[in-house]
Amino acid sequence: MAAMSDAPKPEILVVEDEAPIREGLCDVLVYHGYRPTGVATGDGGLAEALTGRYALVVLDVMLPGLDGFEICRRLRAARPFQPIVMLTAKGAEDDIVRGFREGADDYVPKPFSIRELMVRIEAVLRRAGRAPLDAQQGFAVGRWRVEPGERRAVDGGEAVELTPRELEVLALLARERGRTVSRDRLLQEVWGFGNVEHIHTRTVDMHIAKLRKKLGDGISTVRGEGYRLDA
Ligand code: CA
Repeated sequence: MAAMSDAPKPEILVVEDEAPIREGLCDVLVYHGYRPTGVATGDGGLAEALTGRYALVVLDVMLPGLDGFEICRRLRAARPFQPIVMLTAKGAEDDIVRGFREGADDYVPKPFSIRELMVRIEAVLRRAGRAPLDAQQGFAVGRWRVEPGERRAVDGGEAVELTPRELEVLALLARERGRTVSRDRLLQEVWGFGNVEHIHTRTVDMHIAKLRKKLGDGISTVRGEGYRLDA
């Protein structure tokens, strides 16, 4: 018999009001070596998520009480680096865009295949584990000095916080400084998406827009191609 690993299994919170989906998902998570906790209501889900015990939170959108967006927004405000995967209605583009805006790391459309959901969960956990990318190596963006280890950009006495995802976007652009990085490549390397769809491209644009709001100029748009940090 194989020796049991001493490493504690990551805890995952599943906030989903439909019992068959919630219970089925928890069973699969156990099978894959996680410790899941299922919660059926929005308010209960938020309270549980705020304990900070969870390596990842799976959030349904439609819930009794607080909905998934509101939970995501409040959770993100309290715990900026909490990995969150949202379950959205199939084809509901507005849900997906809103989910990302409220800070979800990824989304999986319903009805989902368990396999796809597991792939997404593991990709988000991997990214969370390795973020910030290129750890201690700082670099310049416009007037800012990005300090990945501190998860921030500084300019004199001024500092802005950056999320792991924003740091990954900036680190990739900085590695290719002076060259254009396509949206497809950003999606592939930062989000881990192999299949590029229109909706995913908008995700990149939304994150760039957020970065510009924080940092001002510094990231150039190359129309129809992608983004670039000027040398
Ligand atoms: Ca629901």
